[in-house]
Amino acid sequence: MNQTAGNPAATTAPETSAPETPAIAIRDLVKRYAPAGPGAEGKLALKGVSFDVPEGKIFGLLGPNGAGKSTLINILAGMVMKTSGTVDIWGFDIDKDQRNAKRAIGIVPQEIVFDPFFTPFEVLEIQGGLYGITKALRRSEDLLRAVHLADKRDAYARTLSGGMKRRLLIAKALVHQPPVLVLDEPTAGVDVELRRQLWELVTEMNKEGATIVLTTHYLEEAEELCDRIAIINHGELIANKPTRELVGMAREKILLLTLDREVTALPTHPGFVKCEKTGDRIIQITYDKDHSNAGEILSAVQAQGFAIVDVTTKEADLEDVFVSLTSKVAG
Ligand code: ADP
Ligand code: MG
Repeated sequence: MNQTAGNPAATTAPETSAPETPAIAIRDLVKRYAPAGPGAEGKLALKGVSFDVPEGKIFGLLGPNGAGKSTLINILAGMVMKTSGTVDIWGFDIDKDQRNAKRAIGIVPQEIVFDPFFTPFEVLEIQGGLYGITKALRRSEDLLRAVHLADKRDAYARTLSGGMKRRLLIAKALVHQPPVLVLDEPTAGVDVELRRQLWELVTEMNKEGATIVLTTHYLEEAEELCDRIAIINHGELIANKPTRELVGMAREKILLLTLDREVTALPTHPGFVKCEKTGDRIIQITYDKDHSNAGEILSAVQAQGFAIVDVTTKEADLEDVFVSLTSKVAG
């Protein structure tokens, strides 16, 4: 363990884990919540999810409300019992080696809960005590500095703003110096300024060596922060790619062409990614904006004898990728 002052997330791997071992390995994870009453079926929140979180990365878990993100995070945290499947954290199976798995991860839950009568310093000291860290080895002051709360050391938790509380929760999750930090919707409902601060904090901790997992439903946030993005919807994993690749899926542009007569044949061109009839007189052409352009596409279509009377363009972005991916899996 790194005991030097400075960023608390700068920890080293326990010797037992090989460098190739992912920070988190999830296989066939299923969660069915207990039914609300007799005769009712329990909610199937995770339907067999498998993925790895690579070490040293910022990993984004995206999905709409109710997708199963918190369920997954709470299973990692040991707060929700999985129905089946396996989870390894830092090479430790959460069933067979619960203690080591727990020590390897720090979780910032979605809900903010604090005893309002403790000060930030006390919150961290108590957490240190829970992890059996002796007073001399606790780093509460360092942690408060790291999350920019040093000046709130002795304030009652109830007097802190929402943003300060969230930062205190991050410090609390770092008390035992876990190599993996998980943040569940860290910026939901926080203002732009605080969101910036949290992004910086997360980036800093990652530079110091921490593997970060964050859930969000802000695409912009995932796009800016994450090296890799997995998308979960209705309890199923529907994408898991490096951010660059996922954004690359948004390189496509769409041209809607209205012709002077009913569409009976479709034009062809090497620049088309897709070409389809979407109305009596309408052709929808998808093309890659890196490899073609609207002028080229229009000339090609006209050269093939099609008379165009109207043109509309549509630009895809990560939002569109997200929507098209999430709408594929019917609920
Ligand atoms: P997300 O964090 O992606 O918004 P959740 O994991 O919180 O999604 O919820 C996934 C699904 O499981 C939702 O349909 C939710 O209503 C349900 N759910 C979450 N917690 C419980 C619970 N304790 N008991 C029963 N159903 C739950
Ligand atoms: Mg949630």
